[in-house]
Amino acid sequence: MTVHHQRRSRLREALSEDVRGVFVTRDLASVRYLTGFSGSNAAVVIGTDEAHLITDGRYREQAHHESPDVAAVIDRDVVGALRGLSAGRKIALDDRTPVGMAQQLTEAGLAVRAVADPVAPLRMVKDTQELDALSRAGGISARALEQVADTIAVGDREADIARRLEAAFAEWGADDRAFATIVASGENSALPHHRAGDRPLATGDLLVIDCGAKVDGYHADMTRTFVVGAEPSEWQHEIHSLVLQAQQAARDAVAPEVVAGDIDAAAREPITHAGFGEAFAHGTGHGVGLEIHEQPMLSARSSAVLPEHAVVTVEPGIYLPGRGGVRIEDTVVVAHAPQVLTEMQRGLTRVG
Ligand code: ZN
Ligand code: ZN
Repeated sequence: MTVHHQRRSRLREALSEDVRGVFVTRDLASVRYLTGFSGSNAAVVIGTDEAHLITDGRYREQAHHESPDVAAVIDRDVVGALRGLSAGRKIALDDRTPVGMAQQLTEAGLAVRAVADPVAPLRMVKDTQELDALSRAGGISARALEQVADTIAVGDREADIARRLEAAFAEWGADDRAFATIVASGENSALPHHRAGDRPLATGDLLVIDCGAKVDGYHADMTRTFVVGAEPSEWQHEIHSLVLQAQQAARDAVAPEVVAGDIDAAAREPITHAGFGEAFAHGTGHGVGLEIHEQPMLSARSSAVLPEHAVVTVEPGIYLPGRGGVRIEDTVVVAHAPQVLTEMQRGLTRVG
């Protein structure tokens, strides 16, 4: 029995009685999770004891190769294919499916109901194969960042560093980058969502690098902060040690059955206590897997309970507009002895 077959069995068990007839998802990450298929156009249909993958002619070979234990339906007309497969039964569509799809099905005379995405809770708990891919993605990210950090010099442009890092991911065996690499220097480091631009690194800059490699569809996510061409100044050292303390507290709080909001609170406590609460204006972390952001969210309001073998990021930060910022992020497996997948030293080290 393949791992995908096992996942589909777990999904069937999780579906309520009335949804068990025909469940359909077009979410590509869920399609890949349930069938192994990684093409860009697909729907998966899960019946009581059969599974179908609908895709178009471009993917005929790939569907057979990646999803040998699922019946492939090669049809550009997804609605028509679904009409044939549902054979009058009511279709349960996960609520992440684009609204237009439900409308098309209804207009074609099919009975449709939206259900809360039943795949997301399953995807939250990673199986051995997923943990292995995430572990490789995390290891590659950390080794590549260590390697590139050694090459950084005053005058380098942010975008050049991002390119070098992404090339290093490939050299270390990644399939791709997990997301557009963030390299934020000087005042840009105070912008949590800055990407990587033309700014040349200057002596004394804080430098935030947020990056990740992708392996077999699985994403890693890590951030380290450096100081460029000089020893850290007092204020840089102060905010960095607070963020490090916050990140360690949050990492220590990660355990099975813990409420996500409590991990956020653990990260926030030392930062707020030191008077920088307002300067930590984003959530503490998020789940990672086949998507870079997935359940569970580690935010103040989150009542999600962390299951064993969820994989989450822990990424507090302090951002001082016009001056600079610090973020430290790791990807961590939730377990009684939590495992950090992006192991690399976290101190405020000098580069350049
Ligand atoms: Zn990140
Ligand atoms: Zn992140």
